[in-house]
Amino acid sequence: MIREGIDVERLLRNYDPDRISIATIASHSALQILRGAHKYGFRTIGIARPEHGWFYRQFGFIDEVWEVDFTDFESIIPKLLERNSILIPHGSYVEYVGWRRAIKMEVPTFGNRYLLEWEADQRLKMKLLEYANIPTPRIFDDVNYAKYPVIVKLYGAKGGRGYFIAKDREELMRRLSDLNDAYIVQEYVIGVPAYYHYFNSYVYSRLEIFGMDIRYESNVDMRIPGLVEPTFTVVGNIPVVLRESLLPTVQRYGEQFVKAVSELVPPGIAGPFSLESIITDDMSIIVFEFSGRIVAGTNVYMGIGSQYSVLYFDKPMDMGERIAHEIKEGIKRGTLAALLT
Ligand code: AMP
Repeated sequence: MIREGIDVERLLRNYDPDRISIATIASHSALQILRGAHKYGFRTIGIARPEHGWFYRQFGFIDEVWEVDFTDFESIIPKLLERNSILIPHGSYVEYVGWRRAIKMEVPTFGNRYLLEWEADQRLKMKLLEYANIPTPRIFDDVNYAKYPVIVKLYGAKGGRGYFIAKDREELMRRLSDLNDAYIVQEYVIGVPAYYHYFNSYVYSRLEIFGMDIRYESNVDMRIPGLVEPTFTVVGNIPVVLRESLLPTVQRYGEQFVKAVSELVPPGIAGPFSLESIITDDMSIIVFEFSGRIVAGTNVYMGIGSQYSVLYFDKPMDMGERIAHEIKEGIKRGTLAALLT
């Protein structure tokens, strides 16, 4: 476990709080993040892969688009600090830069960057959820005791790529013998997926249920029933709202997660995170995954705001706006450092 932390207070000492920039990798949820930041008066920076900047340059709310070779991401640190930048991490940042380098990046980063290590390791991930006392699928360390069907998950797999389902022991043993990567064998829960977007606000001392989505996945969604191997490659997201009677459980699990993170992964979690679940036909919510940062599923309400945000602000807000709002309030109240690692 990486323990040595970044001294955010020291980095912020050289920052001008009236001239903060919001920077993020130009991918994933960057449009939402940078649009929201611009709306709240921040300078905005999109960091694109070489030859990928053109798409982002067409949008007026992005002040600067840089093209950067991500193998040398560290070379832009001085430029980011010069512009008083707060980096907003998301899935593509983790994918392109890697959690090890992200944890050591000497740039103030929104939320808890140390959670990225827990997210990258299937066992640590499940340990945190179990510690939070949230129902999770069973993990079969000894496959002799597996109950079928099972899902086999590779460590650090992006968007579910490389996962497979085994219906019985024979299929599991055959598929495992071809596998060279680290994996876990998990109960495949029968039900429907639902992904919850939370925002843990230090400014308002509350956990907000902010939105929800389900994923549009190849090759499980709709067009190929039983014809090919399911691949779970995420191609998009679809908005969803739940029966209101499920919301108290969703809220409770979110609060349990926040508490677990504050105990196991200091300094706790500020800002967006997500729990990903299957809901069974008896209305149990089984959580198989978390993301300790903004998820791309929040894009479903970009620009229009989520239904649930109205409950807290009496106006629709998207997650990009919500992040900017929190940073703005943190600056105003002199508590910005608490939102960053
Ligand atoms: P993940 O990459 O962990 O988010 O998983 C990719 C997809 O696999 C999810 O969107 C779910 O549809 C499915 N999935 C993952 N774990 C389970 C499970 N234990 N039971 C049922 N479906 C699962």
